[in-house]
Amino acid sequence: MLSIVIPVYNEEEVLETLYNRLIENSVHWGQDFEVILVDDGSRDRSFEIAKELNAKDKRFKTVSFSRNFGHQIAVSAGLQYASGDVVAVMDADLQDPPEFMVELLKKWKEGYEVVFAVRQGRKENIFKKLAYWLFYRILYWAAEIQIPLDTGDFCVMDKKVVKLLNSLPEKNRFVRGLRSWLGFRQIGIPFERGSRLAGEVKYTFGKLFKLAFDGVVGFSYKPLQLFGYFGFFVSFSSILLLILLGLDKVFGWHLTPYDLDKTGYFPLLFAVLFLGGVQLIGLGLLGEYLGRVFDEVKNRPLFLVKELVGITEKNESEVL
Ligand code: UDP
Ligand code: MG
Repeated sequence: MLSIVIPVYNEEEVLETLYNRLIENSVHWGQDFEVILVDDGSRDRSFEIAKELNAKDKRFKTVSFSRNFGHQIAVSAGLQYASGDVVAVMDADLQDPPEFMVELLKKWKEGYEVVFAVRQGRKENIFKKLAYWLFYRILYWAAEIQIPLDTGDFCVMDKKVVKLLNSLPEKNRFVRGLRSWLGFRQIGIPFERGSRLAGEVKYTFGKLFKLAFDGVVGFSYKPLQLFGYFGFFVSFSSILLLILLGLDKVFGWHLTPYDLDKTGYFPLLFAVLFLGGVQLIGLGLLGEYLGRVFDEVKNRPLFLVKELVGITEKNESEVL
């Protein structure tokens, strides 16, 4: 059986179409399927529509959160309730076309445990495109594991991988990173990502920023290390400056074309502001790591369920 996990946050405009498109395509999948809609605290009619879908088609199930927990947590929750031999993750807004599922499943049948879709094009504004482009390159450079470029959460995964993914305890989840970290046989296939069918983008700038930080901070110490290196460089330069100044004063050696002794306010102000800024950024970064450590230590549940529709229990036996 195929389980399809779909995070839903205020998607009332698209759910009916999503349902129709999934049903149309399901004939090509060659197996039974279930759809786990994860209602991430929607404030519109999404949950009502999800219940209606379940009333007319029992294969459509819903986990409804007590509030908005965020996309990555919604995906993680869906994976915990999925019971298929193969599990797919896709967005509700049909930016991940259900037509593509056949291709993903084909590779899974060939024996790949993780088959993910790689975005070829993006129909988004230039700023967002640029931000994503930069983010994936920084992540690729920083991360200790190789997280493939331009891949989102759209994928199919074998049951065995899902089970392991569910067993990872972290709270700040960057699902596509964790998925790569797991290993096994993985393959990416290219696809064109369309624009969302209807409605507003649900990822606010703040949420995207959090995602980017979870990606980089969760998989790399490089940002902190860089600050160490930079501090080293600054201290070294200042010592060098001191030596030059001393040689100038004591022996009258002018080793630079500048008059180092002529103390003006500007160089001083620059040095103070520059170093102050660098230190604050460094502190902020430390805070990002420390905050995440704090999240893990608190060990609060990842999400809280308000209502289950068509599902009785979490797949506890599947969770290690
Ligand atoms: N989403 C969610 N919780 C959130 C924000 C988004 O479950 O807090 C869902 C949303 O309903 C959609 C998917 O995540 O199914 C991707 O969101 P969106 O299309 O807004 O982002 P983008 O396609 O720009 O990455
Ligand atoms: Mg979208």
